[in-house]
Amino acid sequence: MCIRFWSICGTTLDDLEAPMRIELNHALCQGHARCAALAPELFELDDNGYVITESHEISAAAEPAALLAAKVCPEKVISVRG
Ligand code: SF4
Repeated sequence: MCIRFWSICGTTLDDLEAPMRIELNHALCQGHARCAALAPELFELDDNGYVITESHEISAAAEPAALLAAKVCPEKVISVRG
């Protein structure tokens, strides 16, 4: 039953265990700085308030902060993918 479920949705156990990643589309950033205000450990800004952090893997512990930052970024610069 489980094997069938996994094959139907296209997700494998390896997918579920893969580390999460923060992906950033820097071209969309407008320098609101909300991401760094919420999660300064995950997002670094330049002197003008634009995010300069590159896309990177995050720990499971950092996932809630990353998801919140993605939600509050008004320009949809940030996405969190597994
Ligand atoms: S909240 Fe979004 S638009 Fe604002 S600095 Fe962060 S990534 Fe850029």
